[in-house]
Amino acid sequence: MADVFCAWCRALIGQSPVDHSHGICRDCYQQMRGIPRLSEAELDALPFGVIILDERGTVLAYNKAESDLSGRIRTEVVGRNFFTDVAPCTSVQAFQGGFREFCRGDEPSRTFRFTFHFPTGPIPVQIVFLRMGSEVAVAVQKAIGPPV
Ligand SMILES: [Zn+2]
Repeated sequence: MADVFCAWCRALIGQSPVDHSHGICRDCYQQMRGIPRLSEAELDALPFGVIILDERGTVLAYNKAESDLSGRIRTEVVGRNFFTDVAPCTSVQAFQGGFREFCRGDEPSRTFRFTFHFPTGPIPVQIVFLRMGSEVAVAVQKAIGPPV
């Protein structure tokens, strides 16, 4: 049996016979589920990045933590396409492909590791997609541990 850690806060959440099991603890999941109800000011107060996308990938909201991580200014990204205009490094199967699958499917959330390629260098991150009607909240934080 291998220890299973929360992919978001790294708290030990249990044991699994599968070595590389992913999961999010209940506290983190509760916090994430509240994201769709937050105001812009409340999104800005979060300690991790949040990007709200419509199903075409248009950026509807971009919070302060994400702006700090990426070095991009909110007013320059809202209304543009995330995959083609804002973060072209994400227009790959691992991110945009997963996003399309997620939009077509019915999972409430999806968690995966990714590496952003910013002009300042690569940054490994933990990503969570959360469904909010026809829109998707993308939560982002710097990954802990070795890059994948
Ligand atoms: Zn957690």
